[in-house]
Amino acid sequence: MTQIEIIKALSDNYIYVLHNPINKQTAVIDPGEAQPVIDLLEKKDWNLSHIFNTHHHNDHVAGNQRLVNKYNCKLIAPKYDQNNIHNCDHYVLDGDEIDIIGQKANVLHTPGHTIGHICYYIENLKILFSGDTLFRLGCGRIFEGTFEQMKSSLDKIINLPDDTLVYCGHEYTLSNANFCKSLIYNNIKDLDASILEIKNLRNQNKPTIPFFLGQEKKLNPFLRYNDVNFKIANNVEKLNSTETFKYFRKLKDNY
Ligand code: ZN
Ligand code: FE
Repeated sequence: MTQIEIIKALSDNYIYVLHNPINKQTAVIDPGEAQPVIDLLEKKDWNLSHIFNTHHHNDHVAGNQRLVNKYNCKLIAPKYDQNNIHNCDHYVLDGDEIDIIGQKANVLHTPGHTIGHICYYIENLKILFSGDTLFRLGCGRIFEGTFEQMKSSLDKIINLPDDTLVYCGHEYTLSNANFCKSLIYNNIKDLDASILEIKNLRNQNKPTIPFFLGQEKKLNPFLRYNDVNFKIANNVEKLNSTETFKYFRKLKDNY
């Protein structure tokens, strides 16, 4: 039984620590800082074996070097972000099958936020580490790629099963919810129910992560570019799916 610990880091980042009690391997996803990871590992008496990065931004990789120095662990990172992630043991590409603490994982190349951005999907556990590609009720800003690339990246995520649990890179959910409320929802009751749950969690200072992908497909405006009723409600039914994605992403950029 894989254990997953959520660490709050920096202002609104999440770092995930995975532990396999049988083979004793421990991995960290996107250590934007090292100290909170070290603190958790010491508390649990776990020894870090692997670091996995989703993309090269500092708030996801800044803890890499200190953790490698301290634990002599292996670093796995996206091939196309290689110029910005150094001392990596293994660069991975779309479609690669890798091992994450004894579980088979698939690498999804999801360019847009950065050129190399990848997500890690563990089918047996039905979990996705989405980095800064998909957030709850939002998606990453497009810094290095194009709208077309980001939309194709989200297509790959949409194709995963509804009962996939998503672990994303940031706690942006409440501000994303405010943007959603500025749009027209044909299923506003579902959105409002979800926002109520989100506010409850945040009032108790709890993460709104992980979340089910199936619910995102119904509520996240950046996953609804093929959703006819949502497009009609927002007067974009004449746009194709990429144009629709671009329309909502641009609205959010200027929100
Ligand atoms: Zn980022
Ligand atoms: Fe980030």
